[in-house]
Amino acid sequence: MKKAITIKAKEDLNLEELTEGKVHRFHVHLTDNSLGVPWRVPVIVVKGKKAGPVLGINAALHGDELNGISIIFKLLEEINPKKLAGTLVMIPISNVPGYLANRRYFSDNVDLNRIMPGKAEGKTSDLYAHHLINKIFSKFNFLLDLHTASHGRVNSLYIRADIDSEETRTLAYLQNPQIIVRKFDEEGTLRGWANEHHIPAITIEIGNSGAFQHSLIDESLEGILNTMRHYQMIEGEVKDMVTDAVICDNSYWIYSKRGGIVDVMPNLADTIKKGQLIAIVYDVFGQVKEKIISDRNGVVIGKNINPSCDAGSRILHLGFNLVDPDPEEIPGHHDFHE
Ligand SMILES: [Zn+2]
Repeated sequence: MKKAITIKAKEDLNLEELTEGKVHRFHVHLTDNSLGVPWRVPVIVVKGKKAGPVLGINAALHGDELNGISIIFKLLEEINPKKLAGTLVMIPISNVPGYLANRRYFSDNVDLNRIMPGKAEGKTSDLYAHHLINKIFSKFNFLLDLHTASHGRVNSLYIRADIDSEETRTLAYLQNPQIIVRKFDEEGTLRGWANEHHIPAITIEIGNSGAFQHSLIDESLEGILNTMRHYQMIEGEVKDMVTDAVICDNSYWIYSKRGGIVDVMPNLADTIKKGQLIAIVYDVFGQVKEKIISDRNGVVIGKNINPSCDAGSRILHLGFNLVDPDPEEIPGHHDFHE
């Protein structure tokens, strides 16, 4: 009989104690569940022979957003620990209860990416977030947080980053994305916490939930390798940093007002004009109940793909610029100040 491979559990991520030039796989104990059984997150550390930064790559903070897991596995195959400069720390599944239940939220229905850095004394999710931050994420010099669209929606490959900061702008450009949304770091997000604590971080949104999408996975992997080349963790030439990504100042979702069967017409990354018809809500007899019109120029970052539409459903995620590059198209600028 084959000997079972036992994976060790640790109480903390102590990078100093790990041997150089090797791949290390272990669990880190965060909190305990209602059976008194530990919640442990899987951690993969590639510790290089040479000195260099600690790059953290996190996936599945939303438990059903899985493309990042495949990116981490593929990255692991690419990296030779004997040649690596610095340390690569990868967490393929950071929201373990959410992953087990195949859903976005933590076991107490809280979104972990809205409560960072958690609390040492607080709710179930607060404790878990607190330990994720203190035991793992606080050890990074840079952080890439891998996400996807949520259930029932599709995303382009896009980045959320503060591009006014040189370090996060560089991280964003290295990924060669279709779209960059220059959102400020929203409070409670992992990215927000990291940047506040001088760990430059961006969010990479890769396609859809609950799936492995190989072309987007390969594109994102290339962006991460490019990042590692830029910081001289691996050898090779940095590929052209993106100059043709659509950069948006902000984004919001356009909602339906009526319930029914919805058909959302534009494709991902399409340019949208103010006044353009973007979706039709039908009643169950095929009669038009609502025509949803875009109220400004922009680009499609994400869209709903579930035809069943309650009144007040998210329909289309529109990225836009505060100052439109083509003001001729827009009668008046009064609606750009919000
Ligand atoms: Zn997410």
